[in-house]
Amino acid sequence: MERNKAIVVFSGGQDSTTCLYWALRQFSEVHTITFTYGQKHSAEVEAARKIAGMAGVDFHLIDITSVASIGKNSLTDSSIGMDREKPAEGCPNTFVPGRNLFFISIAAVYARELGIHDIVTGVSQTDFSGYPDCRDSFIRSLNVTLNLAMDAQFVIHTPLMWIDKAQTWALADSLGVFDIVREHTLTCYNGIPGDGCGHCPACRLRNEGLKKYSNSRTLSGQSSADTF
Ligand code: ZN
Repeated sequence: MERNKAIVVFSGGQDSTTCLYWALRQFSEVHTITFTYGQKHSAEVEAARKIAGMAGVDFHLIDITSVASIGKNSLTDSSIGMDREKPAEGCPNTFVPGRNLFFISIAAVYARELGIHDIVTGVSQTDFSGYPDCRDSFIRSLNVTLNLAMDAQFVIHTPLMWIDKAQTWALADSLGVFDIVREHTLTCYNGIPGDGCGHCPACRLRNEGLKKYSNSRTLSGQSSADTF
C-alpha cells in the first residue's frame, strides 16, 4: 500500500471539505467517498460531488440507506422533530446510530481496493454534540479493529479532533479555502448550502464558529470585511 494516497470520508459539509483540502496538502493523490444513508436532503450529495469536482479529486458514492435505516433518527425520518438542544442524557435525535462506524469501515474496504491505507475523517470530539462515534477513543478503537479485520495498516487521520468550529474556519483559511468552504459546503440540517437556514443545530454551531473566527481576525488586524 502506498503512503502518498489517502481517502477522505466526505459529506460536502464544512468539516469534511476542510479535511479534503488538508489531505490535498499532505498526500499527492486524494480520493473521496460519500454516502447516501437516507438523508432528507439529496442536496448534500450534490454539494459533495460539486466540491470534489472543484478540488479535482475522485468522487465515489455509496448507498447504505438500507443499513442506516435500521436506527431511527431525525435526519432520515421526517416524522421525527429535530432536537434543537443536546438532551440532559444521551444523544440528540440527530444522531444516526452507527453512522461513522459504517462510513469509516466501508471507506477502509474501498481504500484497501485502491491500495490506500490513509483514511481521513472530519470527526471532532470538541464539537461532538454528544455523538459517541465522534470521540477519539472510538476512532482509535475502530482503527485497531479495521487493521485486525483486514490484516492491514490503516491510519485514520482526524485533523479536527481537538479543534472547535472557529479553529476549523481558521484551518480552512490557512489552507486558502475559506471562501470555498463558506460558499459551497452544506452543513445545514435543512439542506440550505453556505450560511444555511441559520437556526438548525448544525447552522448554529457553524455560524457561531464563523462569528468567533471573524471576530478574532478583526482583533488581530486581518481583513475580515468580507466575512461577518
Ligand atoms: Zn440550518
